[in-house]
Amino acid sequence: MKYQAPRGTYDILPEDIQKWHYIENIIRKLTSLYNYYEVRVPIFEQLDLFKRSVGEDTDIVEKEMYTFKDKKGRELALRPEGTASIARMVAEHNLQSSKKEPLRLWYEGPMFRYSRPQKGRYRQFYQFGVECIGSSKPIADAEIIAIGWQILQEAKVPDVSLEINSVGCPECREQYNILLKEFLYKDKDKYCADCRRRMEQNPLRVFDCKNNTCRQLIKNAPRMLDSICDKCSEHFEGVKKNLEMMKVPFTVNPEIVRGLDYYTKTAFEYKVNYLGAQDALGGGGRYDGLIEYLGGKQTPAVGLSMGLERIILSLEKSEFLFPEDNNLKVLVIPIGTAALQASIEMMQEFHKADISAIIADESSSVGSNLKLCDKNNVSFAVLIGDNELKSGLYVVKDIKKKAQSEIKKEEVVSFIKNT
Ligand code: AMP
Repeated sequence: MKYQAPRGTYDILPEDIQKWHYIENIIRKLTSLYNYYEVRVPIFEQLDLFKRSVGEDTDIVEKEMYTFKDKKGRELALRPEGTASIARMVAEHNLQSSKKEPLRLWYEGPMFRYSRPQKGRYRQFYQFGVECIGSSKPIADAEIIAIGWQILQEAKVPDVSLEINSVGCPECREQYNILLKEFLYKDKDKYCADCRRRMEQNPLRVFDCKNNTCRQLIKNAPRMLDSICDKCSEHFEGVKKNLEMMKVPFTVNPEIVRGLDYYTKTAFEYKVNYLGAQDALGGGGRYDGLIEYLGGKQTPAVGLSMGLERIILSLEKSEFLFPEDNNLKVLVIPIGTAALQASIEMMQEFHKADISAIIADESSSVGSNLKLCDKNNVSFAVLIGDNELKSGLYVVKDIKKKAQSEIKKEEVVSFIKNT
């Protein structure tokens, strides 16, 4: 019986891992420059956490969650996103209380959604997220948006556009919901069953519908941005101003609502126009009510999340040459079994000096081992046979320069280090 990875999942093969390391290194660098700390939260949580935070009427919770019961009958879910867990963690550990500065956190890891797999959409995918917790100021929104922007720029993802919007606060949303409901009810029967139900419970979610008829109908709906209160409007102006100061180019798109319930005020997305339907690389927004809603202190917060697969896909599309991972530097070639002991010791000396080295198969010919060096971009080969053992002089071949030297065995490491 031969097995396959489950539908919607995939393996990251050794020849592809450099792409992941490339983008992960950029994420680590940028988050560190902005003083963000990495955190790691569980891959599964109580199901209720996602129902309450992401929202019961969202596609993610309604249709896409991997849920299960453990042996004690507890209802759990594989995490479909990261912010709910971060907010739960902050509330649970009361993380904000002792700090004056906002808490700056980031994470990366697999997320799980039962959606229809296609290029750029998987059932297990990787997201990284950046969260600034404890500041209600527009500069915090701008900082988060700028970090995402800079990561994409530094990674050289071509033609990224940034779109921002404000989805208001609970007060202005209440007013807006009345207007939106009025609009939706005019053509109520033309919408799909999901939308008709959402109209009652959470009309903003009608904007997430993928059904073409619903999409056409909602196009002329009143926009949240036209209904936001003075405070939200002032905040939005502040975010725009700060982004301008940071020289982060953006456009305002009143249609961005994000598919999760916890967002307040700022919402934004990074997009490209060459990935078809999966054109969103990431997005985020403010979630001022979430931590309190999950039992913590009232704590304003803003964050973003991005999909690593989509960033990699964008780079592959532009035929970007990913830098190779630091690969093997030295192949130690024992000529005959008698040289094995000395070859092992030689390899260990390289490792002590932080130089990557392995031992070649002593049953293969020297010629085929040297060919391996060429093929795998190995810089040096060290040959050890009976003569070398007797003389204490090892043959060091510089593969690229096609040069050869005989070096005292105690000096081989420093010779290679200094070449
Ligand atoms: P969301 O949490 O839905 O706003 O998603 C944030 C980002 O995660 C998206 O812009 C994508 O880059 C990525 N993403 C979301 N769902 C998937 C998925 N099923 N497969 C791959 N990437 C995804």
